[in-house]
Amino acid sequence: MSSLTVLPSSPPDPLAEELRSVLAEFPGSQVRFGRHDRLLYSTDASLYQVEPIGVVVPGSIAAAERVVAHCAGRGVPMLARGGGTSLAGQCTNRAVVIDLTPGCRELKWVDIGARLCEVESGIGVDELNEHLAKKKTGLFFAPDPATTRQAAVGGCIGNNAAGARSIRYGRTSENVERVEVCLATGERVWLGPDGGATNAVALRLAEGVSKIVRQHAAAIRERFPQTVRRNAGYGLDTILDQLDRGAMPQSVDLSKLLCGSEGTLAVTLGAVLKLHPLPRSKGLAVVSFVTLEDAIAATKPILDACLPLGLTAVELLDDVVLDAARGNIEARRYVELLPGADAARGEPKAALYVEFFAFDESGEQVRAGFSVLRELIADMPGVLPDGFAVYTDTPAMMNAWALRRAGEPLLHGLPGARKPITFVEDNAVPVERLGEFVREFKKIVARHGTRAAYWAHASVGVLHVRPMIDLHDPADRVRMREIAVEVADLARGCGGIMSGEHGDGRVRGPLLERFFGSELMGAFRDVKALFDPQGLLNPGNIVGAGPVESITSALRVDAANEADTPSASLVEPVDTYFDYSDSEGFGHAIEQCNGAGVCRKRGGVMCPSYQATLDERHSTRGRGNALRLAITGQFGGGKPKWNDAETIDTLDLCLSCKACKSECPSNVDISRLKAEYTAQRYREAGRTPVAAVATGRVRWLNRIGAVAPGIANAVNRTSLARGFIGRAMNLHPSRSLPTFSRSLFSLGKNAAWGSAKPDRPRVVLYGDCFTTYNESHIGAAAAQLLDAFGYEVRIIDAGCCGRSMISVGMLRQAIETIDVSVNRLSAAAADPNVRAIVVCEPSCLSAIKDEWLALKCRSSKATREKIAAKSSLVEDFIDRAWNEHPNRPLVERLAAPAHGPPVVLHGHCHQKALWGIETTARLLRRLVGDRLRILDAGCCGMAGGFGYGADRYELSMTIGELTLFPSLREAPVDAIIVAPGTSCRHQVHDGVNRRAIHPVELAASLVAAQQRAASR
Ligand SMILES: Cc1cc2nc3c(=O)[nH]c(=O)nc-3n(C[C@H](O)[C@H](O)[C@H](O)COP(=O)(O)OP(=O)(O)OC[C@H]3O[C@@H](n4cnc5c(N)ncnc54)[C@H](O)[C@@H]3O)c2cc1C
Ligand code: SF4
Ligand code: SF4
Repeated sequence: MSSLTVLPSSPPDPLAEELRSVLAEFPGSQVRFGRHDRLLYSTDASLYQVEPIGVVVPGSIAAAERVVAHCAGRGVPMLARGGGTSLAGQCTNRAVVIDLTPGCRELKWVDIGARLCEVESGIGVDELNEHLAKKKTGLFFAPDPATTRQAAVGGCIGNNAAGARSIRYGRTSENVERVEVCLATGERVWLGPDGGATNAVALRLAEGVSKIVRQHAAAIRERFPQTVRRNAGYGLDTILDQLDRGAMPQSVDLSKLLCGSEGTLAVTLGAVLKLHPLPRSKGLAVVSFVTLEDAIAATKPILDACLPLGLTAVELLDDVVLDAARGNIEARRYVELLPGADAARGEPKAALYVEFFAFDESGEQVRAGFSVLRELIADMPGVLPDGFAVYTDTPAMMNAWALRRAGEPLLHGLPGARKPITFVEDNAVPVERLGEFVREFKKIVARHGTRAAYWAHASVGVLHVRPMIDLHDPADRVRMREIAVEVADLARGCGGIMSGEHGDGRVRGPLLERFFGSELMGAFRDVKALFDPQGLLNPGNIVGAGPVESITSALRVDAANEADTPSASLVEPVDTYFDYSDSEGFGHAIEQCNGAGVCRKRGGVMCPSYQATLDERHSTRGRGNALRLAITGQFGGGKPKWNDAETIDTLDLCLSCKACKSECPSNVDISRLKAEYTAQRYREAGRTPVAAVATGRVRWLNRIGAVAPGIANAVNRTSLARGFIGRAMNLHPSRSLPTFSRSLFSLGKNAAWGSAKPDRPRVVLYGDCFTTYNESHIGAAAAQLLDAFGYEVRIIDAGCCGRSMISVGMLRQAIETIDVSVNRLSAAAADPNVRAIVVCEPSCLSAIKDEWLALKCRSSKATREKIAAKSSLVEDFIDRAWNEHPNRPLVERLAAPAHGPPVVLHGHCHQKALWGIETTARLLRRLVGDRLRILDAGCCGMAGGFGYGADRYELSMTIGELTLFPSLREAPVDAIIVAPGTSCRHQVHDGVNRRAIHPVELAASLVAAQQRAASR
């Protein structure tokens, strides 16, 4: 049976029914055997796609144990899963996927004295360290793969994960004390240093493994590499090492063997982990080089000189990675921070990150490390002038590391049919042979007519290389296999190995026999049979892999072909509403997610619905997958399915916050794709649902309400009207309704700020739907403020920006509306006397700056670009034009008042994603100085119309409770809460019953106070 064979989705699956009944007594557990869920779990961060039998999400460890026991009894294959961030395909299989991350993530205890803690296997690495920090233990779990934000401890054990600091802290295997596992026989057992002494099952396993290892001791000594990093096959060398040191079966520590076993020996339920003291001081030096070769040559001398001085990492980035970062909205600024950076010359071409940890408070030891390093590189060839920088404060170091962390996923955004492909990305060689390895590697790649991107955990000789391959091209696939074999041989020839940390999976499993030889492969099979006699756990990985040709089977890009829908060629003819030329066409846009799972992190904005639900389906990756599968016809039918009910459900909880557009390293823009998919659905159906029209045409409703706002508000407050509106628009009863105000245009008629002042330079205030009809006092405050700074303010009724229509997928109507608005703003854009077009509402400004340019409008693109370039938030314009405002005396008098209440700023998601919170913060800082506190609070959960929905209200509130609400509850009672977004202010009101104001309201009141004081 093909790995991609499609299971029928409708008839009830007996196995699913059995599992449901087994799990009935375990709350929070879910059995998902529908086609949609199966396919959402058919990929990881690798090239592969294999449809699982079904998905189970156990609500607890006890539930997980029961699932394993049941599947074992039924002879059903199983695949335990953490964050699903594996790069070698070991997290894709025709099996029942057991996702331990939502329900099994407890930190059970910490013993500070013994530096140990016990966790459930689904807990995330960063999450664990956050708990340890909150408990003020002074300890941390050290293994640091680049995915600590989204990887689970169980997955780290499965892959024996290790990161930049492994030279100091080792791999996961060196940081695990013991593991609790469920075997494929259904037995639950602890494996660790004394496992065999306390448990008969553990003793049986330890005796069996010891026997196998003794029998093959000579081959193990000969064939296992001596590199710090090695993660191929089963770690028999770790057992031999113990036996050599005199261990008896009772004391052989099998947890070491579990590390790196890729879920093939047992399902890890929990672990006791070793912890390390947090360093008291840290420092990061970055050295920029002229060439990659210069940087590699510098590594060994740096290691030799700095290792005794607390060196923890030497990391390498090459020019392909740096260039990819230059093309990414989020990462570009990090490249510019590199020492000696010269954007025009494309320098540096490579950089080394050299990190030091120390335990003295003073930072003296770190400084000593820096000075030795500075002296060393002073005479080194290839270091750029001014190419050395040191950082010791945390934000600066985080900024620098952000680039290194983003390196790999960024490569997926590179233009062209050939992409940097993950298949020889994980070689480890002795550091002194790194230069030779890279030279020979380059020759192999060149011989095959392509090039590669290089970055490395240089300190341990782990080189991540991505040759550029077009997986759609059969000739490139042959190249890929040939390169894989040649590189594996090269690594071996250099005394290294082809799996340094990412494991074997589907991509390197077929090369194991070539590397280890038939004797050791036999030993691996014996170990597998000892633990998993029926071969049920992640079958086909490590042992039982296919021939070399299988490296290019079960590829994700083939899955579309198998559904008779060659992905790129099928989707191109779709008449899209957005122009996808910035993503190399629609076909590429829907394939842009690489599965690395950064969107499953906690903290930041992306992805609010995942952070609140911990459900793969409600992550950016889940949505990206759903869209790709629906549009490439893989949910059935072989052609785009625009009305797929499950896909619609998966998209439903997307808040269109745009966080993924900037925070996803591949710039996957779900907000845009969701709007496109919905619009295509409406087009196919030939109608737009009434509820969507009611939300999309919010300007009409607001305009009507603003005719007689007193009456409209009074009516809205009656329970009869509230009930009627709630039912008609599917609103949640606990959600307050927005109020109407007199329109901004009518307010302006009688106000001083509304009068003509032709002698002044002009600013055009865009009358957005909310500032004009719901909160016109904000528009008035903005106009008053601009008037005070010496401008003539023209409020333009340019119509709607289209935001509300875009958010419900009314793209045809949005395009028509935008064309009208563009026409009305075009004169202002062209008029040199108009200094700026200013906007109060960030989501309207984001429409102008983002969607107006990306939608296939009929109006001239050049005009839209001019409008976008001239448009900004009111407060941003005032800050940026500070030295040119006509009212100079006011500017000179304004200084941050020393005393006053704290000011707490919550930014809008679109603002944070597209142009940054500083566009509001800078003006406030000028006015209130260090009384300003910027909340790092993610999304508020309201997101325009999202939080009104009866079926979304609870989620909206849960998202608010993640960070924003608790932060606001902690804010002093007299704090002024400032939020530029109308939805955010609404949510603050409904969530914590406090009033938030727009920044221009605060600014206008401070300026007015200043003016009053000056006139006294
Ligand atoms: C951009 C990027 C960078 C990366 N950088 C690094 C790096 O620096 N170092 C590194 O080591 N790796 C790296 N990886 C690979 C991967 O992210 C890590 O190995 C990570 O620790 C895997 O964790 P996970 O929770 O995602 O595991 P998963 O992918 O979910 O699982 C990994 C393996 O463990 C098995 N498994 C998971 N949970 C269990 C369990 N409870 N019981 C039994 N088996 C289980 C799975 O079946 C699978 O075989 C990187 C990946 C990406 C995409
Ligand atoms: S959506 Fe972005 S962050 Fe999430 S897995 Fe895909 S590429 Fe990674
Ligand atoms: S737009 Fe926001 S909610 Fe939607 S997928 Fe992206 S990050 Fe998640």
